[in-house]
Amino acid sequence: MVDPVITEPPTERWSGLKVVTLGTAAGPAIRSECAGIATAVVVDGVYYLVDFGLGVTRAAHEAGLRGEDLRACFVTHLHSDHVAELPAYLLWNWGQPVQGFTEPVQILGPGSADPEAGAIGLAGLVDHVLRGYSYDIDVRIVDEGRPPLYDLISVEEIGLPDSAAGASGESTPAMDPFVVYADDRVRVSAILVEHPPIFPAFAFRFDTAYGSVVVSGDTTESDNMVRIAAGADLLVHESVFLDFYRALDFGPEFLNHQLISHTTPEGVGRVATRAGARRVVLSHLAGVATDEQWTAGVAAEYDGPVTVARPGTVFEVVGSGTLAPATAGTSA
Ligand SMILES: [Zn+2]
Ligand SMILES: [Zn+2]
Repeated sequence: MVDPVITEPPTERWSGLKVVTLGTAAGPAIRSECAGIATAVVVDGVYYLVDFGLGVTRAAHEAGLRGEDLRACFVTHLHSDHVAELPAYLLWNWGQPVQGFTEPVQILGPGSADPEAGAIGLAGLVDHVLRGYSYDIDVRIVDEGRPPLYDLISVEEIGLPDSAAGASGESTPAMDPFVVYADDRVRVSAILVEHPPIFPAFAFRFDTAYGSVVVSGDTTESDNMVRIAAGADLLVHESVFLDFYRALDFGPEFLNHQLISHTTPEGVGRVATRAGARRVVLSHLAGVATDEQWTAGVAAEYDGPVTVARPGTVFEVVGSGTLAPATAGTSA
């Protein structure tokens, strides 16, 4: 059955550059009412999604984002809290009957960490999803006249530049951001971040005619984050509140993982200051704390504005603008 509810497409609300923190929680654990990590970057009415945490399908719809306006998807890494709802998002946003996408959509993200050991990357994950749901997909192609979903999805596993030679889940070399995607509205760059033992793990930067947005993905305090966030108008950075876990008597292994794989609020502040980021939004919150507890640590190291993201918050980005539109008239 198809839900017949049709709503007005997004218009003025989505002019310029906006960031929507669709979901803000780390996982996989339900520790708050917040949906899992997912971030939308909206540029003049079309949007780009970064990660697919639990709840992204409903959150994007409630924000007014429809599949027909989706341009491309970016996956930072293959931890389940970042990809768990990718299947549902695709199946709920495909084809005309649901105001879904009818043109090809690219999904970019990590390749296999170890192909010889049989570890699958993003292409394998999406392929398994499409196969797993092929009965439903095939029925809808015939029964509802939808275009073949298989032909609308193209996965690009992000190749690593020479500067990443020797990189692994335990070692991340210093490198410059490298361009992974570009269209008439955005140029997207990636960089390896440090999220051991996961490899690869990326941060992404969106440069637009209106300004720049950086999404950290999951990372410990990282020099590469400083590089990719240089001069960013908005830095969406993950964070962990260790006292929450300490108070619950989590074991030393778990606390150590949090420490070496995630960033304390103070660490976010140091990264933002070194990068010269103009504004910080904390999202992908690991642990539960008050807004004051989250922001105090950042503010100890950073003088700029800091906001703790809420699911569904829309941030308008007004920056210097760093990208001339490639096609005249598309970003007036
Ligand atoms: Zn995560
Ligand atoms: Zn992770």
